[in-house]
Amino acid sequence: MDDESIEKFIRQDLLDFGGYAASKSPEILKSGIKGSLEGIIKLDANENPYGCSVKVNRALADYQGINIYPDSGQKELRKQLQEYTGVAAEHIVASAGSDQLIDLILRLFINPGDEVINCVPTFAMFQFFVKLNWGTVVEVSRDEEFHVNIAAIKAAITNKTKLILLATPNNPTGTITPREDVLEIIETGLPVVIDEAYFEFSGETAAPLVGNYKNLMVLRTFSKWAGLAGLRIGYGMFPQKIAEYLLRIKEPYSVNVAALVAVTETLKDTNVLMDRVKTVNDERERLYCMLKEIKWIKPYPSKANFILCSVLKGRAKELQQKLEERGVLVRFFDQPFLRDSIRISIGKPEENDILIEILKELEEDSNDQ
Ligand SMILES: *Cc1c(COP(=O)(O)O)cnc(C)c1O
Repeated sequence: MDDESIEKFIRQDLLDFGGYAASKSPEILKSGIKGSLEGIIKLDANENPYGCSVKVNRALADYQGINIYPDSGQKELRKQLQEYTGVAAEHIVASAGSDQLIDLILRLFINPGDEVINCVPTFAMFQFFVKLNWGTVVEVSRDEEFHVNIAAIKAAITNKTKLILLATPNNPTGTITPREDVLEIIETGLPVVIDEAYFEFSGETAAPLVGNYKNLMVLRTFSKWAGLAGLRIGYGMFPQKIAEYLLRIKEPYSVNVAALVAVTETLKDTNVLMDRVKTVNDERERLYCMLKEIKWIKPYPSKANFILCSVLKGRAKELQQKLEERGVLVRFFDQPFLRDSIRISIGKPEENDILIEILKELEEDSNDQ
């Protein structure tokens, strides 16, 4: 059988599925870049420039239980997360990154053709998982400053709507949705997912509301603030009924033992980690001011660990490539609502300085022409 005939067995709706344009891993970078990896400034995936807690590294080096499956019920982990979030353990479910919870939620709610409201531009994994789970994405666009339009969300609701997805702070725009807007969305009565991947940076959360509503789900992750992106650990806070269903349909061992160790140690070291979060927030404001001074770049205010910028002159793709040649990685977008844009994750102060230096040089180069 040749390659083409096998395709008739594959889901028709996936034949033109675009996948997700993921950031480049260090292994891939190594093969594509001339110099050493040491000098690379990685500002393309909102990772933590300071790494994880040193307690995590130490505990993992000593850990003896890798040959044993983790607890599928996540008993200890959910207790720890209860302590951290203030939300009772029965409401909490953890997963291999919060990405996996987005998938599980869609699997739980979506029948083929059901509609999911998505406030674009936003995190690309939302539409990825909606499509993968036979859902139909209904896009409601944000305004020019990337704030959500509550009236438009309500107007988009039909009898097929099963979920409303909302990231706050939003990725890649950095926009916060204020509490009163979140409440209005929850009060539609539809299942609502609030993705708070950047909560520790913004300090704003809907978590305390979880106990009060039967339709509110709040997602969090250790990937960004705690520097555990590579270990894949996220969690959500749900109405108890939904948490029970999610635990039933999730792969039993999706949270690996290394991630369990890492969370335990991370939660012993929150003072250090939150100091770093504060440093990143301070750096974000400093970088924002410096970007504002560059005439051909328009940075948008952000409450997360990155800044979205419109590239007003020339093309964002070109800029991204020029930065890459100089060893600085950023994320570029060219799609509806995000024409010629780059997203810059906040690095260490010295890394942000190098970025700004290069941008200024590029400006001079183009003035010379
Ligand atoms: C990074 C990110 C996530 C995914 O985090 P993981 O826990 O690493 O899967 C989820 N939502 C948003 C908006 C993000 O930016």
